[in-house]
Amino acid sequence: MERINKTLGRLSKSPDFRQRYDHLKSEVLTNPDIQAFLLANQDRITDSMIEKNLMKLYEYMSQTKNCKDCPNLGHCVNMMQGYEPTLVLERDTIGIHYRPCPSKIIHDERRKTEKLIKSIYVPREILQASFADFSLDSPGRIHAFEYAEQFASTFDPGSAMKGLFLYGSFGVGKSYLLGAIANQLAEKEISSLIVYVPEFLREMKQSLGDQTLNEKLETVKNARILMLDDIGAEAMSSWTRDEILGSILQFRMHEQLPTFFTSNFDFKGLEHHLTYTQRGEEEKMKAARIMERIKYLSIPVRLDGPNRRHN
Ligand code: ADP
Ligand code: MG
Repeated sequence: MERINKTLGRLSKSPDFRQRYDHLKSEVLTNPDIQAFLLANQDRITDSMIEKNLMKLYEYMSQTKNCKDCPNLGHCVNMMQGYEPTLVLERDTIGIHYRPCPSKIIHDERRKTEKLIKSIYVPREILQASFADFSLDSPGRIHAFEYAEQFASTFDPGSAMKGLFLYGSFGVGKSYLLGAIANQLAEKEISSLIVYVPEFLREMKQSLGDQTLNEKLETVKNARILMLDDIGAEAMSSWTRDEILGSILQFRMHEQLPTFFTSNFDFKGLEHHLTYTQRGEEEKMKAARIMERIKYLSIPVRLDGPNRRHN
């Protein structure tokens, strides 16, 4: 032991070591994040605490925060992928804690919803859509694009902004635009839930009488931002219309939660679709009530242009 200490002692006195140490120390002390931490705790932090914990401060400095240097979670540059450091004061020592970074929070949140809602069934290309790749090849797209972009960039979680009712024919990019909005919101750590309506309602019918139904319904009702994709393409029954769709919309209206829709129908066409159930019953009042809620929640925007599906 004695000998090791002596060696260390000699080493730390060597000019080369000293020089590197001083350089490291000045790098640490001029780092803006560290300066802010030291300033905020100046009445409790002493010079000797800084000396003792210099390596921790250095570790803190060398790790990226707020995902600044990472293109995505898979390419996280930090020691522990998906975690970023924070400095804390623990009695008379400086500690370093690791917490999930913004990308990891979004990733985990998505995984959680995906686990619960099996009926999302949204193609990968839609989930990866972005405004940057959105081609504006027809005037009918520009209006919708502008509105969607404006929503995604100005939305703040406390506000009750109306969603969009994107309608237009098959393949014009309605679902794609939803995906672009969801991705832009995800960058701001706002999670959205995109639900492919025909599949979701089919699944709800199948879960009738089992306890997962309520759990799924609650998740959809409470989604921070809900996007109901392809409403009107489902085989509607009175039960799915009134008890499922109706109760989701009622709740979202009451709680002022942003809700988006896409449909091949405009408002009038959708109302007609909702009027006739599979059994052929005509229920005008009930359809009108659903439409009232949709109109309350969203602003209709038509999307047109060429069909972009190449199959
Ligand atoms: P819709 O929901 O209106 O039926 P989609 O959003 O599914 O249409 O779009 C159809 C196809 O075209 C998809 O493969 C989608 O990725 C692609 N697409 C749609 N709009 C755009 C766009 N503006 N820029 C690039 N690709 C697009
Ligand atoms: Mg679609």
